[in-house]
Amino acid sequence: MAIASVNPATGEVLRTFEALHDAAIDAAIARSERALRVNRARGFRERGIRMQKTAEILEKRQGELGRLITMEMGKPVKAAVAEVAKCASTCRYYAEHAEGYLADEHVKTEAQETFIRYEPMGTILAVMPWNFPFWQVFRFAAPALMAGNVALLKHASNVPQCALAIEEVFRDAGFADHEFQTLLIGSEQVERVIADPRVKAVTLTGSEPAGASVASIAAKHIKKAVLELGGSDPFIVMPSASLDDAVTTAVKARIVNNGQSCIAAKRFIVHESIGDVFEKRFVAAMEALKVGDPMDESTDVGPLATPRIASDIEKQVRDSVAAGAQLLTGGRRDGNYYAPTVLARIPPHAPAAHEETFGPVASLFRVKDVDEAIAVANDTPFGLGASVWTNDRAEADRFIDGIETGQVFINAMVASDPRVPFGGTKHSGFGRELGAYGIREFVNVKTVWVG
Ligand code: NAP
Repeated sequence: MAIASVNPATGEVLRTFEALHDAAIDAAIARSERALRVNRARGFRERGIRMQKTAEILEKRQGELGRLITMEMGKPVKAAVAEVAKCASTCRYYAEHAEGYLADEHVKTEAQETFIRYEPMGTILAVMPWNFPFWQVFRFAAPALMAGNVALLKHASNVPQCALAIEEVFRDAGFADHEFQTLLIGSEQVERVIADPRVKAVTLTGSEPAGASVASIAAKHIKKAVLELGGSDPFIVMPSASLDDAVTTAVKARIVNNGQSCIAAKRFIVHESIGDVFEKRFVAAMEALKVGDPMDESTDVGPLATPRIASDIEKQVRDSVAAGAQLLTGGRRDGNYYAPTVLARIPPHAPAAHEETFGPVASLFRVKDVDEAIAVANDTPFGLGASVWTNDRAEADRFIDGIETGQVFINAMVASDPRVPFGGTKHSGFGRELGAYGIREFVNVKTVWVG
């Protein structure tokens, strides 16, 4: 099977690769076993030196790596460079905090000594998506390697050059004994890797079907899985909010990554008393965005990553309009480009009301009070993030308690940050990345009791 790197802005085939055969996969897993002994024996200080070096290399190469990201998946180059810089800061964060997060924890019991020790699990397989081709990988790999694990990456088939570049960064930083390996394989080869007894756990970021498939394979082999899946995040605006800030952030939160982010705001739930003014200003701001060449620093929205994604979003909008939704702006496709689009008065059975829209398409809803806002926010199979705009603290508390998601941001856009855990509820998955919780996902929590 061939794995192709195709520029979504031009359709040009940049490079193709042959997927690894079984014997090559087997050899890579064997190298991982040896790498585990090396990385485990290093201790936090030695791993930290290498992780700091990883950060330095990422910063030094951020321009070149950012351009590679844009070439393979089409996000605006400024955002691609910022993505690489964020990976660098996360490497530093875990270089500095891993030891503290994984230090022995003493517990008072009747024994002479009782403590909890966190030990690396071993080789972890990461199945990753193309939308943040560096960030998704580093937010798993930095804590995993710092904990003493080693990693195998099966990246999305449309970003093989990013996958190889990440392996090179780790190698150049001194993780030079195969602690991090990229496997260029198709999704049908993932089962084989999970089933291998030398692979101890799997993490997947991607769609619900991929998550369900990988988690069931892991369950069959009694292995741990972490799933970071889709989202249909609500963005709620109440009358006490600063409308200027809410509108500006609403646009940014919808079009981040050309609209292809799990935590992009997708459903805009606005109090009816400010419904008209929000709608008018939001539509005007969406129409003012610059759509075009993602290599141009001034571009706001580039192409969608593949023709399939463009077709999917085109169909969701078409079907939503056919179901009775009102198209306020956009709804046009040109190759892989899709115009920033706003839908309103959306019936509950329309795709824009209950499916994840992975492109620059916003769904507007109006509500009469906090209870209805919470009910609409929760009326989705997903539970990833939520952004709430209000300057009434008591009201904010009702949203914090009532919304069923892994994270609630008040007067701010939902974003991942290495200092705090990230993950979802419901069909958005299970397990957490980042913060202390993230680094403890792939460790054996060993209780030691000294009588
Ligand atoms: P995808 O099609 O599920 O692909 C994700 C990864 O899973 C790719 O490496 C893919 O490989 C692999 N894969 C697909 N089907 C598989 C299967 N049956 N068995 C094993 N591996 C399989 O998702 P995508 O379209 O790339 O990404 C978009 C989705 O990811 C959206 O739903 C988005 O919300 C979600 N996402 C979630 C988060 C989060 O943190 N929660 C972050 C980013 C994205 P191939 O490319 O070879 O098919």
